[in-house]
Amino acid sequence: MERHYFDANATTPPLPQVLEAATRAMREAWGNPTSTHREGQRARHLLEEARRAVAASLAVAPAQLVFCASATEALHLLIRGLRPALGDLPALVFPGEHSACLNPLAEWTGVRWMPADPGGCATVVQMAASNETGILYPMPALPAVRIKDAAQAWGKVPVTLADCDAAVFSGHKIGGPRGAALLWMRPGLPWTALLEGPQERRRRGGTEDQPANLGLAAAVAELPGRLERNAGLAPLRDALEAEVLSWSPDYEVIGRGLPRLPNTSALLLRGHVGESVQIALDLAGFAVSTGSACHSGSTRPSHAVTALGYSEAEARSVLRVSMLPGTAPEAVAALAAALKQVLGR
Ligand code: PLP
Repeated sequence: MERHYFDANATTPPLPQVLEAATRAMREAWGNPTSTHREGQRARHLLEEARRAVAASLAVAPAQLVFCASATEALHLLIRGLRPALGDLPALVFPGEHSACLNPLAEWTGVRWMPADPGGCATVVQMAASNETGILYPMPALPAVRIKDAAQAWGKVPVTLADCDAAVFSGHKIGGPRGAALLWMRPGLPWTALLEGPQERRRRGGTEDQPANLGLAAAVAELPGRLERNAGLAPLRDALEAEVLSWSPDYEVIGRGLPRLPNTSALLLRGHVGESVQIALDLAGFAVSTGSACHSGSTRPSHAVTALGYSEAEARSVLRVSMLPGTAPEAVAALAAALKQVLGR
């Protein structure tokens, strides 16, 4: 059966250029970049070349980037590393943050949920785009350390670092390899390393993952075209949503009319259980999601949806469709037809 993948916010298939770069890294740059011999120095040269290319794309200095294994790890290193200096003061946090952000914040003395009073907050945490709804969020302008989770926005919409002090990025959301992510920090943050070791300028110990990091640089090289192809998805997304909304007045699109990722539709299908709809679509050849993939398997309704004021029952009825760049209109039409049948419309 032909498969159609509509779960790009969970992960994306690695680009051919990424497979090539990662394979080449394993073949030619397997040396330990910390070693001083020729094999090590060759690996070091390619690693720093990759860092420079990624830094140029983000318009930051290469030394400000730390290669990590996931955005989850980067958020843990960042937030837990700020805690000794800032953790006794409140953090202002967007309630729909990913658990990768919320978990390390559990160690902080006080968390205030937006739109709480920001007075006295030492840090502010705001995702650039919601993985579940696609809604885009501006960074609050506050005199605090401003942390941006750009994992979901990267490659789908332009991301600025001018309005924040630290940010994280995930490679596997942009056609890069799994195991590749970035932590960016403005110099001078009151941050201490958790993973001690000489690598990454003593900010993240552990022998660098050459295939992941060189593969990430290859994905980053393709970002301009990816951004363009993602932008081109908005009309397909809008057409799908208009069709679904025409089936029942009980259906809703979360965040419709708000600035959103061009590839994401959070369809609130009152009267249905999102999980059942997702399983039926999977059997029909379509991969979609009921929310963040990290939460599937758990029966809890999505906090990212209830944080917007929806009930738990409504949150359970959400189906998330997230398209890959270059998704064909025919595939979207096929999804709409299958969904219509599953919903009995
Ligand atoms: N932050 C957001 C908004 C995400 O969507 C995700 C992954 O879904 C993460 C962080 C975690 O990224 P990673 O899979 O690289 O750990």
